[in-house]
Amino acid sequence: TVGCVVLDKNGNLTAGTSTGGMFKKKWGRIGDSPVIGAGTYADNNSCAVSCTGHGEYFIRHAVAFNVCARYKYLQEPVEKAAGYIINTELNTNEGNGGLIAVDKDGNIAMPFNSTGMFRGYLYKLKGTDKVEKEVGIGDKM
Ligand code: ASP
Repeated sequence: TVGCVVLDKNGNLTAGTSTGGMFKKKWGRIGDSPVIGAGTYADNNSCAVSCTGHGEYFIRHAVAFNVCARYKYLQEPVEKAAGYIINTELNTNEGNGGLIAVDKDGNIAMPFNSTGMFRGYLYKLKGTDKVEKEVGIGDKM
């Protein structure tokens, strides 16, 4: 998967997810990536989310929407909402994977329950030229 989530300077949130699908997938299989609410979702009033992993489980748990719903209706911080979905609801016995998310205030979350997930972010502070960046592979950031 190559996924991205963006919060722009006007407060717009967007998410994109590209994938080759799963290894040895059946002909005609549709994974979670193009299914809005499963592998990809964005809502200006909550978060932008892009997922990677075993798509069948991300569809079943409507993972990307679920993170936004927890943020919006339960008022959970994005890190808590995303962590709950990945580590509790979509636990390692069932579905493996992770996600990247940014909320409408620029907070980010990148939880995963797989052994690793390449990830990184660029963060430009509003009204300044200051840019922070971070990358990770298998470790939690
Ligand atoms: N989520 C994708 C799928 O199930 C696989 C991936 O790229 O992580 O099709």
